[in-house]
Amino acid sequence: MSKFAISFMLLFAGGNLLAQVDIQPQGGQNYATVRCNGSTTQKYDIVFIGDGFRASEQALFNQKVEEAVDALEARSPYAETMCALNIWRVNVLSTESGVDHPKDGIFKNSELDCRYGNPSVGEAERCIRSDSPAKCIEAAAYAPASDATFVLVNDTQWGGCAGTLVFSCIASNFAQIITHELGHKIGFLADEYTCYVCDGSDDGSTWSSGEPPDANLTINTNRATTKWGDLIAASTPIPTTVNTPAGVVGLWEGGGYTALGVYRPQLTCQMISSSQPFCAVCFREMKALLSSHCSYCELNPLSFYCFDLPYEVHWWDRLRLRWPIPPCLSCPPDDLRKRWEIIFEQVVFEGTEAFVYDEKGVVIAESAVRQRGQPLRISFEGNPLKSYSVEIVTGAPQAKTFNPTPKYIVK
Ligand SMILES: [Zn+2]
Repeated sequence: MSKFAISFMLLFAGGNLLAQVDIQPQGGQNYATVRCNGSTTQKYDIVFIGDGFRASEQALFNQKVEEAVDALEARSPYAETMCALNIWRVNVLSTESGVDHPKDGIFKNSELDCRYGNPSVGEAERCIRSDSPAKCIEAAAYAPASDATFVLVNDTQWGGCAGTLVFSCIASNFAQIITHELGHKIGFLADEYTCYVCDGSDDGSTWSSGEPPDANLTINTNRATTKWGDLIAASTPIPTTVNTPAGVVGLWEGGGYTALGVYRPQLTCQMISSSQPFCAVCFREMKALLSSHCSYCELNPLSFYCFDLPYEVHWWDRLRLRWPIPPCLSCPPDDLRKRWEIIFEQVVFEGTEAFVYDEKGVVIAESAVRQRGQPLRISFEGNPLKSYSVEIVTGAPQAKTFNPTPKYIVK
């Protein structure tokens, strides 16, 4: 073996060792599945990693990841679009507990070198960051896929930040940091704050660049062409200064760390005050982006199309039965009007009638068995976005053993 080959091998091995992030395998693999809703090519994959958690604190990290998921499940529109997300966890081991606070001269030996911002160099202290972002990316790479690498730091001082990587502390109400920072990462939403450091030193600034790319900021005050003009009522003054009715969508001055010359959609929003819901514009943006990772039936589980077959019918000793009509799993919602046929093979009594009702309880189809032993068929034109029910009325009481099984056909 030549000298060249030996030195190459040493470099290769040494490089690997230097870059290796210390992790704790979970159940024989390098990551844990927190929520899996589908393939990584279709879903938006969030990987939670931790910094400043020692081996003895991994259970705490695991619990905080569950609380972060709870936060998403509790905040609209994440709540109704959880089908968009796969959530993975990689357990990173730190030597010391906690992360750096440069302002207070506190420095910890944590695996991912996370710290709060340093106000003495113009950083907002609330913005948590890593001085070794490559290690964060390397840790997240242990998961099956990562669209967002979310670092939870083992520290209860309020803070978070989102850029290439996303960060949050684990303060008692860190749920709102999770939902806010993912607003940046998933929705590409801007902060709607009117200052950056916000210690009084940067109040009253004026926007000096062009139209911002973010969905929730604009400098365009023309109501016909401004970004969210379709959501602004004709009667709402522009600029908007009076919050009546509460939550009015307009052009509110201030946003993007600037007080003047730039506008946000509503007085309050998750992106300016993380305890508040998303404003209508941010909500719409987030919902559209998240929904794009879900199937029609994941988003509309109660749709006519999306019940699981076979549908179970419970027959009681009653003269009148009604139940919702299930859809067909194999029918894509490409055409909203379909002709449906329901067949009851075992309804054999003369005079048995069937009715289909729409959502308002109006009969839209009816049928009857004319001859003993014949199947009962009823057909109607249905919209898969609406719900229907079918009812059977018999001329004579049926025994409990009589158990009609409807068969549904879409044409
Ligand atoms: Zn907003």
